[in-house]
Amino acid sequence: MIRVAILGATGSIGRSALEIVRRHPDLFTVEVLTGHRNVELLRDQVAEFRPAVAVLTDGDVDLPADGGSSRWFSGREAILDAVTRPDVDVVLNALVGAAGLEPTLAALGEGKRLALANKESLVAGGDLVLEAARVGGGELVPIDSEHSAILQCLEGGTPESVHRLILTASGGPFRGRTRNELAKVGPADALRHPTWDMGAKITIDSATLANKALEVIEAHHLYGLSYDRIDAVIHPQSIIHSMVEFVDGSVLSQMGFPTMELPILYALTYPQRVADDALRTFDPVRASPLTFEPIDHEAFPLFRLGVSAGARGGAAAAVYNAGNEVAVQAFLKESIGFLEMCEVIEVALDRLGGHPVRGLADVLEVDREARILTAEAVRDGGRSKAGVGTSP
Ligand code: NDP
Ligand code: MG
Repeated sequence: MIRVAILGATGSIGRSALEIVRRHPDLFTVEVLTGHRNVELLRDQVAEFRPAVAVLTDGDVDLPADGGSSRWFSGREAILDAVTRPDVDVVLNALVGAAGLEPTLAALGEGKRLALANKESLVAGGDLVLEAARVGGGELVPIDSEHSAILQCLEGGTPESVHRLILTASGGPFRGRTRNELAKVGPADALRHPTWDMGAKITIDSATLANKALEVIEAHHLYGLSYDRIDAVIHPQSIIHSMVEFVDGSVLSQMGFPTMELPILYALTYPQRVADDALRTFDPVRASPLTFEPIDHEAFPLFRLGVSAGARGGAAAAVYNAGNEVAVQAFLKESIGFLEMCEVIEVALDRLGGHPVRGLADVLEVDREARILTAEAVRDGGRSKAGVGTSP
């Protein structure tokens, strides 16, 4: 039995993970479930899966009166105790945003396997995450479909044989639109993703291609390649989940109809493959045609901004990530337009991007300051109106 803690059980990835557990009751038991605000759903999940511990991380939400046989805890700190429990083998981190960083560090520091969906923790604190795994003996296995694809392509290969990673991107709902056309799009348009059904934050990130920048940074930390050897290409069908080019020119890819259940199952059981009838659906004819396009950098500037923040090192990626979280929420509330998301993040990057990072305290501080600066820029109506980057 693999004993699992699912952080963010009430979200899109968390619900898919529980679907996997439901289909494989002789393989997995659930020891911990966490939600943030959705107490009704968490209560239903607890009634079905009977974990030892249930956590609601938003301390302002009341715990349910009828919590069943599980022990219920409230607040952010409770999640750190839950992931380090001795009865947990695998921690599946499906929280959204940099809120996932401390649970990631705690799980790896305690020597757990971390099945990681929460890419923001690697983006904000990549070096710290790798150090926690090294010191604590934890094992980092990605759930993100692109990184799971790369992991699968790398099976049996040596690090020296890898020349380049090519991440695929669906292009999101606005693929093919010009920058001018994007000035008018709103949250309802951006939330309509053509190939993936996901939480709101990553759906907006997919529409701006910030998600692909986060994934380039994630790949850099996971696979140790320099940024000039990680490319991204638009592949609208989302069938090829990424590619690895080897030094001899051979290119391997991993394919399948889009579902997060497959990378979740793989991360939980890696390096074993587990039979799952529900996931064996592939049909190359139905998947055809497979096409590829370059990224339009003028229309989607958040991709390049994010990759350059990653390559800059220090605090820049954490600033980009925090600024992006604030920008996405502001866009969802219609406080700023689609193109202004990039402008307000640039304000924070200009001010904080050069800061060094020596430890967790620095990352948390820069994350906090970046949120304040980005929120101010949102109130000021974006970069141009904030007077940043204009000549005197
Ligand atoms: P959702 O928004 O659907 O779910 C997020 C989960 O995190 C919910 O359980 C939510 O609780 C909880 N949560 C929200 N805010 C906080 C907080 N401040 N502290 C603790 N918990 C919090 O997101 P997704 O499932 O779509 O994405 C989760 C992660 O996986 C993200 O990092 C995303 O980038 C990544 N990912 C997602 C994919 C997908 O297909 N969805 C694909 C690849 C990666 P509640 O709902 O109870 O408030
Ligand atoms: Mg992905």
